[in-house]
Amino acid sequence: MHPLLERAKKVMPGGVSSPVRAFLAVGGEPPIVAKARGAEITDVDGKVYTDLVGSWGPMILGHSHPAVVEAIARAAHEGLSFGATCEREVMLAEAVLCRFPWADKVRFVSTGTEAVMSAVRLARGATGRSRIVKFEACYHGHVDSLLVKGGSGLATLGIPSSAGVPPALAELTEVLPLDDEQAADALFAECGQEIACAIIEPLPANSGLLVQRRSFLEHLRKLTRAHGALLIFDEVISGLRVAMGGMTEITGIEPDIVTLGKIVGGGMPVGAYLAKDALMTQVAPLGPVYQAGTLSGNPVAMAAGLATLKQLEDRQAYRELDARGAMLQRGFERAMERYDITGSVARMGSILWLSLQAGPPPRAWHQVDMGGAKLYGQIHRHAMHNGLWMAPSAYEVAFVSLAHGAEHIERASQAFERALEAVRKES
Ligand SMILES: *Cc1c(COP(=O)(O)O)cnc(C)c1O
Repeated sequence: MHPLLERAKKVMPGGVSSPVRAFLAVGGEPPIVAKARGAEITDVDGKVYTDLVGSWGPMILGHSHPAVVEAIARAAHEGLSFGATCEREVMLAEAVLCRFPWADKVRFVSTGTEAVMSAVRLARGATGRSRIVKFEACYHGHVDSLLVKGGSGLATLGIPSSAGVPPALAELTEVLPLDDEQAADALFAECGQEIACAIIEPLPANSGLLVQRRSFLEHLRKLTRAHGALLIFDEVISGLRVAMGGMTEITGIEPDIVTLGKIVGGGMPVGAYLAKDALMTQVAPLGPVYQAGTLSGNPVAMAAGLATLKQLEDRQAYRELDARGAMLQRGFERAMERYDITGSVARMGSILWLSLQAGPPPRAWHQVDMGGAKLYGQIHRHAMHNGLWMAPSAYEVAFVSLAHGAEHIERASQAFERALEAVRKES
């Protein structure tokens, strides 16, 4: 074991600050990172990898983008935290709202988890109802009420729900399958009047990439509205990633609350939730729903978010991301064909997922063949060996960034092909 990993394990549970980083789902040793720049990440031994994880989503411009680093440095010189409103915060709020024009106000927090937790509280506070609905395989951060059947961490470790969540709280969370109008209809017919909100990743990307039919999302919009419940789109991954206005823009469906994270902080810890005035006036200090944060609206983090969004102002950036995603998809598919690996690549813009099963990529969790995980573990090990940093779980997606030029995509495709070749030799 690497001496640094040994030290890490002595002082941090599993040697990590977030579970999936420990590589338990794929086996092998997680490298300790020294630095990252552009499309590449370098470990403490100097080994360079083409990065397809992008810090799990935020690094849409690639690592250490010069404009972002400069903005951070400038902001840092002017103060690390004020505990008061600052100009960069106002500017980022404006930049976010102009991408979600139906929303009136945004509140900044520090993580995606916090954004979701606050959005659910707002929904409960505004409706005076307690029950909430989530969808199987959707991950919404480690919020107590939402740690039920969600996300790759739970999926790969085989944990249906987390210890430490009081049953009295978990009982208030109803879990529905994705892609199933009838199940949603049945639940709302039974207890629709008690439901504060339904929360969904409009592009579920935490348990594979389970692209939903627009008509299903539209159905949820009508159903929640008909029962006086709110609809929350958790766009922590998809917002600012698949289009400027995320899935809200792509589908044209207007939810009641959108949550953001990841990209909105440009690599610094920022989350946000946004809604119309009717809801946002319920939030303290204007209304009775309390929510606060010592480091919320942090000036250095706001600077990173602003500089990142500045680079994404042009729609051309999203066409570019889509083109690079398509290029990597072709590279992966070619390699799979060549080595006769059953599966396909599900993709939305710059988000890709290797679906290691026959037939079209699944839309719901019960359609996911868990048999692919072992093969993914083998591929992962050989990919890392060949300098391709892939997500350490069969159910996590890959991201490409604007820093992934044709040469990086080519290198990634070749490393992937060599990994498949090695896997074939093993079997
Ligand atoms: C990552 C993620 C979260 C949690 O965000 P953190 O910043 O990790 O707390 C919530 N929802 C979705 C959809 C996510 O992808």
